[in-house]
Parts: sequence; structure tokens; C-alpha cells
Amino acid sequence: MLNMESMARVGAWEGYAVSSVQWFEAGEKGPRPEVWIELRPRGNRAHRCSGCGRKVHQIHDWHERWVRDLPCFEADTKLLVNRCRVACPRCGPRVERVEWLAPYARVTRRMAQSVAKLCKILAIKHVAEHFGLRWDAVKAIDKAAMEAELGEPDFSGVTILLIDEFALRKGHRYATVVMDGLTKRVLWVGKGRGREDIRPFFEMLGEEGCRRIQAVGMDMSAAFEGEVRAQCPQAEVVFDLFHVVMKYGREVIDRVRVDEANRLKQDKATRKVVKGAKWLLLRNWENLPDDGAKVRLNELLEANQALMTVYLLKDDLKQLWDYKREGWARRAWNDWLDRARSSAIAPLITFAENLAKRLDGILAHCRFAIHTSLIEGVNNKIKLLKRIGYGYRDDAYFFLKIRSAFPGIPG
Ligand SMILES: [Zn+2]
Repeated sequence: MLNMESMARVGAWEGYAVSSVQWFEAGEKGPRPEVWIELRPRGNRAHRCSGCGRKVHQIHDWHERWVRDLPCFEADTKLLVNRCRVACPRCGPRVERVEWLAPYARVTRRMAQSVAKLCKILAIKHVAEHFGLRWDAVKAIDKAAMEAELGEPDFSGVTILLIDEFALRKGHRYATVVMDGLTKRVLWVGKGRGREDIRPFFEMLGEEGCRRIQAVGMDMSAAFEGEVRAQCPQAEVVFDLFHVVMKYGREVIDRVRVDEANRLKQDKATRKVVKGAKWLLLRNWENLPDDGAKVRLNELLEANQALMTVYLLKDDLKQLWDYKREGWARRAWNDWLDRARSSAIAPLITFAENLAKRLDGILAHCRFAIHTSLIEGVNNKIKLLKRIGYGYRDDAYFFLKIRSAFPGIPG
């Protein structure tokens, strides 16, 4: 059997001794076994003020407080801690500084760390069940841990930005995420996707920070482009491949597929195939499964000239992002534009003419190779965070989660 002194050593509650221990079976106090440990301060030691950190001799008062610690084997552990408030000449009455317990905390520091660690991979609900804590207690611990971990964002070395929007929740509310294109760190997340919505980021970045920005990768949203040109006029706007190809999928491939399906009203069997081919057409060839999908896609394209054209032009459009030299990229673009114009496919021609007006943003890629995989990565992670079901009724908490998931690579 553990004696009090070994118990105190196992617990490592610095400055405190164990004065009593009680064990309870499951059902006695709660649904799970519990151990109650009473801690008494060891005599004759200095007390530090939690405000200024100085040693203070005068005690203001003592009070007892229940605090949760990590479980002892199977038992939920509850500590009854006698805490002192010092009468600090500088700060007034203040709780004593204790390394293992933050002022006014309901759980020990090591327990808070474990909670925050599990919250990186599990939903609040599961962490709360695991530790026998309340849902809002777990959320508050996790939020405080992320705030401490992330601190005030430091924008000093930032020269390349990536801006992207994402759906906050169903009902089409949006938010915007800004990343450092070099370190992959999420710098800022804010509600909305309009010009004035992203302005607070540039205000935080400051005039000097804005002047350092060389390039900004983004989708073809007019709001982002307008605000970047106003705040960082020297920066190049770079349209990333991921977004342009997504737009092509929506505005060209999907529309041609629907038009073709409508045209095939009489031929019900073929119409069904064309209507159902959305994902075959939008996915990359190399990502298609080997269960006959490639064969089906080939048959579909062979039978349908318009679909074949827009499908092939999608692949050629992507290749524009492979060029390192602007001259080559421009030549490839002109060739692509000619083919689009002579296709007689209306949605394709419209898309091509719109893109032609914003060619600079595509050619800028030759000077600033912004990796589309970063934007895709952040998009996928946001989807995953939403699926895990973090408490994203609280936007501030959800935004911290996103920043915490992309702390950046050092250097
Ligand atoms: Zn003080």
C-alpha cells in the first residue's frame, strides 16, 4: 500500500504533502471509480505572487478548491487543494504561483496538456467522455491551450501570401484563410470573403508588412484581387492552378455535360451515361480506379466530340502551370486560346475569353511558383475539422483550430 509520502512523490505536487486519500468504487460517488486526495501545503516555504512572481511573506487568506488531475489507473482523481492568496505589496491579494496548477484552474497543468493534446485528434465530446469532464470545460481548456501556443501572430518574414475562402457551415456563410506561402503557416482566419472582410488582415500586417509582400496566390475572386492591389500595389497576383481548374470544371465541363445530356433526350440510354459521368470527367485520369472507369470514360469521350474537346483542353490548361519561362507559357496559352475559340463550344469560349483578360495572373506563376497543394491541403484539413465536429458554433474557436493545424515549418 502506498504511504502518504510515496503518494505525494508519485503525484509530484510540488510544495504540497498528502494529508488523506480516499478511494471510492464505481457507483459510490459517480459512475466511475474515484480517488480523492487532500493536499496540504508543506510548511516554511516562500510563496510567490502569481501576478509579479516575487516572493511574498504576508498571507492574505487560505481557501480550499477541488481540482481534477490525471486519472490514477482506473480512478478519476480529484484533489482538494488548500491554496493561499498572498498579500502582495505590488499586486494586492493574489493567488500563490504553483507550477503544476494555473491560477483559478479546475484541472492541473498536466491534465490540461493531455486534454489539449487529445483535442487535436478527437471531438470535444469524446475527450470529455474519456476524462469524465464537462464538454464546455474541455473546450475552454483546449481554447486556452491554443491561444497560449499560437500567441500573437508574427508577420515579420512573410513575403508570399496565399488567400482562400471556405464555407463556414451550411447556409453559405464563408470565411477566408491567409497562409504564408513559404512556411505553410496559417497567418489569419476571418469571417466573410469580401474586400472589407479581409482588410483587417492587412491592417494587422501593417504598412511595412504590406510593402514586403512580393506575390499573392489566390482564386479568381475579384474581391481578393481588388484588396491586394489596393493594399500591396507592388505585389504580383498569381492565380493558382487548383482554383482555375475547379472553375473550368464548374463552368465548362459540367455545363457541356448537361447540354449534351439534354440534346440526347431521345436516346435515353446514352443520356443516362452522360448525365452520370460527372465525377469521371472531373477527376484526374490518374486518380480513376481500375474497375473499368477508364474504359467507361474512353467510350464516353469517343462517342461525344464536345466532351472530348473540353476534357482534353482541361489537361492542356493544367500544363500552363508547368512552364518556368514566361515566353513558353505565353506561346502555350495562345495555342490553347486558339483551340478554345475554334471549338464552337459556347461555355468554353466564354471561359477562355474571361481568362484571357486575366492572363497576367497565370503567367505570374512562372516567377512565383505557388504550390497548389498547399491550398488543397488547407481545404482538406478544414473539411476534416468540420467532419470531426469541433465546436464550430464558436467561430473564434474553429479559427484557432485551423491556425493550430498549420503552425508552419520552421525557417
Ligand atoms: Zn505581485
